[in-house]
Amino acid sequence: MRTRLMMLGPPGAGKGTQSHRLSEVFGLPQISTGDMLRAARKAGTPLGLAAATAMDSGKFVPDEVVVGIVKERLTLPDVQHGFILDGFPRTVVQAEALAEAGVVLDAVINIVVADEELVERITGRCTCPGCGSAFHTRYHPPTTEGVCDDCGTELVVRPDDTAEVFIGRLADYWAKTSPLVAFYTQRGIVHTVDGIGGLEAVQERIRVIVEGRDSSPLTV
Ligand code: AMP
Repeated sequence: MRTRLMMLGPPGAGKGTQSHRLSEVFGLPQISTGDMLRAARKAGTPLGLAAATAMDSGKFVPDEVVVGIVKERLTLPDVQHGFILDGFPRTVVQAEALAEAGVVLDAVINIVVADEELVERITGRCTCPGCGSAFHTRYHPPTTEGVCDDCGTELVVRPDDTAEVFIGRLADYWAKTSPLVAFYTQRGIVHTVDGIGGLEAVQERIRVIVEGRDSSPLTV
């Protein structure tokens, strides 16, 4: 059975962290458009450089750009048993493009966290540019301050994780991304998960849903 998942939720809800963990639990590739764009930027590709300004100011990269990179990624052989989409689709236009490309999703995990909690969480978040692991100075500190537990790389604070930029990202989520809840609810594949609690507790809630879900999804 294929497991084609999408993680939905506001910035800071834990999509990246949970996708990373579930990718290991289920042996499925995590397809994060944010990570792909950051890698393209680090490599200095024209795509990465074009996306840089939008990313630093917390704005969305144009739909056609992200749709292009995801379609290309989904042609790689490692998606044969499924995948975990993390941060894509982020607009209804992207979701329609995915469906038009013939990509069927089995489940959309909608991680719900209140806005006030998100703003609190985002200050203190740091990520590993080496392996993608995420830490938080209060909720999930690395063993050695500033250093990734998993690969030893120095942790960084993303430029789009400042409070000011974050408030704008949250507004964009409500205006442009949250309509996807209705879009996928119509297709009968949305599962709402409480994103409050420890990483393990939230992971367990998602694992139970993914393992127990109906194996005959509606087509997107
Ligand atoms: P993320 O790591 O998912 O928070 O993404 C970081 C940044 O990459 C976002 O703030 C956007 O600038 C850009 N980005 C990632 N995914 C998308 C997407 N699906 N659509 C538009 N922009 C995106």
